[in-house]
Amino acid sequence: MEDLKPKTSIKYLEKMGITTLTEKDNGLPLSLGGLEKGISPLQMAGAYATIANDGKYIEPTFYTRIERKNGTTLLYAKQKSRQVFSKETAYILKEMLTEPVQGQNGTATYCKIAGVDVAAKTGTTDENYDRWLCGFTPYYTAVTWYGFDISESINFNQRNPAGLLWANVMSRVHTGLNSATFERPTSVAGVTICAETGKRATTGCQHKYVEYFLLFTKPTETCDKHKGQSLDSNTVDIKPKNNTTEIVKGITDDIDAKEPNPIKDKNTNTNTTTSTQTNKQKENTSNKTNTNTNTSANTTNTQNTNSNKTNNSNSNSNATNNTNNISSNITGTEDTTE
Ligand SMILES: [Zn+2]
Repeated sequence: MEDLKPKTSIKYLEKMGITTLTEKDNGLPLSLGGLEKGISPLQMAGAYATIANDGKYIEPTFYTRIERKNGTTLLYAKQKSRQVFSKETAYILKEMLTEPVQGQNGTATYCKIAGVDVAAKTGTTDENYDRWLCGFTPYYTAVTWYGFDISESINFNQRNPAGLLWANVMSRVHTGLNSATFERPTSVAGVTICAETGKRATTGCQHKYVEYFLLFTKPTETCDKHKGQSLDSNTVDIKPKNNTTEIVKGITDDIDAKEPNPIKDKNTNTNTTTSTQTNKQKENTSNKTNTNTNTSANTTNTQNTNSNKTNNSNSNSNATNNTNNISSNITGTEDTTE
């Protein structure tokens, strides 16, 4: 944001339907979600749906059409829509946002839905006043916020209560749907990067990860710190595409508020080259040997990146259908204590 300037970010936020920014928000704390008034869950859902909709913002609506008694249509909802950024940019954002769900140090790993790609971002504010989960699949975008109307700390078990709401509702919403993935545009490529130098990785690099680039922005220099052969990673497609269509089963039991016991399997440390990582998580690469600790332990640096202050009195969660952008309040959370 320092490079792009906060004004540029504000311009894009406004194009994505955010209307509550103030003059005080024009500064670098914006990058951490430090806002004067905050953003409502409904507007946040509209903004995240822009990413899910390949860069196209569609104004949320609470109805699609009204019919007469005889079944003819009296009124269609009119929704403003506009292309905010390219589908290639949207895809790169989607890939980054799968990391909290799929990454070893992910903050939202319990939001996985078997058979469906999930992108999600957790958020928190100082003193645990607010908890957020903003996320989407190829089918739906949903945003949950958990907190009090006034600034008061919330108490909870180990897992983000907004995230638990999100996971329990979204896994049920997807039950019975066909499996689906985020489709990678042909002009976006994965490149294996050396985490230490930020250049293209060689066989000698210890800490590697795949990052996605627009074709003309791919790094050209190869790592000169670690000796090895260059990796031909121009067309890396790290996610094996499953061509068979499966039906999403959803969950049968509620997702626990606590983390399960620490993983006993120590072998999860071997596939650093097959996971996508955001820049933010490069810093964590050196901690990857520490697999016997609780998976939620090393999460603070990503968890804080999207925290938002809010004084919003609406404690509903808003779900937005990605195809026609129906918003509906699916659950109230105000009196929920656990
Ligand atoms: Zn290297």
